[in-house]
Amino acid sequence: MRPVDRVDIVIIGAGVIGLAVAERLSRTKRGAEIIVLERHDGFGRETSSRNSEVIHAGLYYKENLLKTKLCVQGNPMIYELCRKEGIPHRKTGKIVLATTQPEEQQLAEILAQAKTNGASGVCLITREEIETMEPYVCGLSGLYSPESGIVDSHQLMHFLEQSAESRGATVAYGTEVIGLEKSVEGYVVEIKDTDGEQLQLESPVVINCAGLWADRIAWMAGIDVNAEGYRIFPCKGEYFSVSSRHQGKLGQLVYPTPSPIHLGAHAVLSLDDRLKIGPNAVYVDEISYQIDPDHQKEFYQKAKRFLPFLDYEDLTPDMAGIRPKLYRQGEEFRDFIIQEEGDRGLSGLVNLVGIESPGLTSCLAIAETVDRLL
Ligand SMILES: Cc1cc2nc3c(=O)[nH]c(=O)nc-3n(C[C@H](O)[C@H](O)[C@H](O)COP(=O)(O)OP(=O)(O)OC[C@H]3O[C@@H](n4cnc5c(N)ncnc54)[C@H](O)[C@@H]3O)c2cc1C
Repeated sequence: MRPVDRVDIVIIGAGVIGLAVAERLSRTKRGAEIIVLERHDGFGRETSSRNSEVIHAGLYYKENLLKTKLCVQGNPMIYELCRKEGIPHRKTGKIVLATTQPEEQQLAEILAQAKTNGASGVCLITREEIETMEPYVCGLSGLYSPESGIVDSHQLMHFLEQSAESRGATVAYGTEVIGLEKSVEGYVVEIKDTDGEQLQLESPVVINCAGLWADRIAWMAGIDVNAEGYRIFPCKGEYFSVSSRHQGKLGQLVYPTPSPIHLGAHAVLSLDDRLKIGPNAVYVDEISYQIDPDHQKEFYQKAKRFLPFLDYEDLTPDMAGIRPKLYRQGEEFRDFIIQEEGDRGLSGLVNLVGIESPGLTSCLAIAETVDRLL
């Protein structure tokens, strides 16, 4: 094994969160030696490139949660960055549709929550207004969110990576963290590279942005992840693409009313106007991005309720992403964990665990929070 090298800050994971943290710290901790360790050969190979790319507005969750605060704070930050840096994005707006009377009641509750959360411009719209805004969609009534939109997550991550590196941070691909131990000076991080060679880095600060594997990193540091509620329960979200013959039929994001564990399979727009339906939510035991073609029927039946133009044959399996959930089906809803672990005798270790949606929207606000914790 090679002798220990020393750096000032180690960030584990080059998804959108690790890169946003690296970019932020490269600006605020000038002169600090920052290294991002990523086991894949490029950024965003896991959850950050397997999502709906929606810039959320903070409608649904309770106002005191990080998921809400960081989303409401992160939404204008993302738009501003995209505008300034020419990152492809579009403020499409979004309609949440009610197709039954109980769902209309649910919309009224979401409106009240959205207002409490400070999500701007959100209002209820009538069936006629829906028809004017989106003639191909049907619903009894809707909730309109003008600040929702979409972003090219690859370009966003590319910008964050380049910006961090331009200020001296290093993003080291093909480096897997296999051990993490407290030392007198901070932490010894054990790394295996793609040739199987092992090396060590010592750093007073380690930021765990390992997404689906963040519980494993916390466990390496000595945290009892089951007892502390850091255990991740992967929950797959599959997408089906919609035939190109329907391209251009929707101008904005169209969602059903949400279920307790996710926002509901919705109409996902890409920046080139292609249409997808998804994601669903299925708890899984292993990380596999395969799509079960048998789910097509369920997707079709659910989407047909608000997208009446769909035929069964219009749907084709597209892609899947996996949410790093902190709770199982039926268990109590959990917030993001963003925690400096000084209280457990692990000062300088910052864990980010359970960063599911709206993590992409919140990435810049999360980076600001981590900066403050340090
Ligand atoms: C189906 C789905 C839809 C979503 N839709 C949206 C949306 O529309 N809007 C929104 O705001 N959010 C959305 N999200 C959430 C968003 O995608 C995530 O919050 C965000 O991508 C999390 O980024 P991350 O950097 O934490 O994780 P990741 O992108 O998973 O990055 C973690 C990185 O850590 C690396 N890593 C792990 N272990 C190690 C190790 N031991 N050594 C080195 N590297 C390691 C991994 O290789 C990976 O690259 C969605 C998520 C899913 C699953």
